[in-house]
Amino acid sequence: MDLEHIYLKALELIPLNKEEGIVLYTHAPLEDLMFIANKLRQVHNPGNIVGWMIDRNVNLTNICFSQCAFCNFCRRKGSVDAYVTTTEEYISKIDELYSLGGDQLLLQGGMNPDLGIPFYIDLFKDLKKLYPSLKLHALGPPEIVYLAKKERLSYNEVLSKLIEAGLDSLPGAGAEILSDRVRQVVSPAKASVSEWLDVMREAHRLNLPTSATMMYGHIETIEERIEHLILIRDLQSAKQENHYGFITFIPWPFQDEGTILLKKYGIKSGYYGPDYIRIIAISRIILNNIRNIQASILTVGREIGMLSLHSGANDLGSIMIEENVVSAAGANNRFNAMEMQSIIREAGFVPGRRNQKYEQV
Ligand code: SF4
Repeated sequence: MDLEHIYLKALELIPLNKEEGIVLYTHAPLEDLMFIANKLRQVHNPGNIVGWMIDRNVNLTNICFSQCAFCNFCRRKGSVDAYVTTTEEYISKIDELYSLGGDQLLLQGGMNPDLGIPFYIDLFKDLKKLYPSLKLHALGPPEIVYLAKKERLSYNEVLSKLIEAGLDSLPGAGAEILSDRVRQVVSPAKASVSEWLDVMREAHRLNLPTSATMMYGHIETIEERIEHLILIRDLQSAKQENHYGFITFIPWPFQDEGTILLKKYGIKSGYYGPDYIRIIAISRIILNNIRNIQASILTVGREIGMLSLHSGANDLGSIMIEENVVSAAGANNRFNAMEMQSIIREAGFVPGRRNQKYEQV
């Protein structure tokens, strides 16, 4: 297959098919991909602003029935270090968030069998009552699937109730790799591919802002990575034109430390820097209808984060005041607000602080 022909299609924003994506991934020189992805970054986001934000990740609970093989964070009910975050803890964490200039909470955590939809509705309402300007970027498709099954509600009903209680946007958590073959091994108890996509389709119908993610570098093939991107692109193209849909796409590598995948199956993280750059560039090229590509500086670190900005990414995400899931599996990069801005400047761009909807603040 002719690489030049694929490059031209990509530059004209014509959707690439799976075969073309695989050829790009396996045969295109990295510098070609970076060049094209950079051009496309300028089509979607002209100029030299790189987004970043301040938010705080609070884990609702670490009790989770799912026990995903890549998760070193979850605990079983009754474990000595199992917890459900208390109101007092939320208050002290949110006070600290506000004192650092942030107003968004990323609420994630385990799927705790004791917590049903009334728990989340009460929590969201209470937090919004205490902090009316607080933004809640919370849960993810697996939790919505779980709550729908537990409460015998449709995805529309679960999402509508949560939006009414204060949910502002839905993270693309739990996508991992959108392949049921892969999910059967790494997260068999979690939402299937079609369930994940159906929740996001419903969120897009309700005009709830969402993000899409990919956690790669474990047992998936290159073909499955490309299929993942195409599923996300095709869902995005089905959304109503004036609705948010997927505001951003964020790929990050599997962190192996202490995980079942490593301990039981000997599967190490397949991460290496040049491959991350390739993934960022390929994401920008295949996702021709998603405006923002975020590099996960928290997992890949400063240098690869900076290089990503020359490979199609236009955002470095959050300084993430607290994060426990990927850091529990070995990601230890931490940056404060000053460092984040200086990294962006050092890479040759202008830092632009933004909110969860990618609006400059
Ligand atoms: S990754 Fe999430 S869903 Fe999976 S076991 Fe960990 S907390 Fe549970």
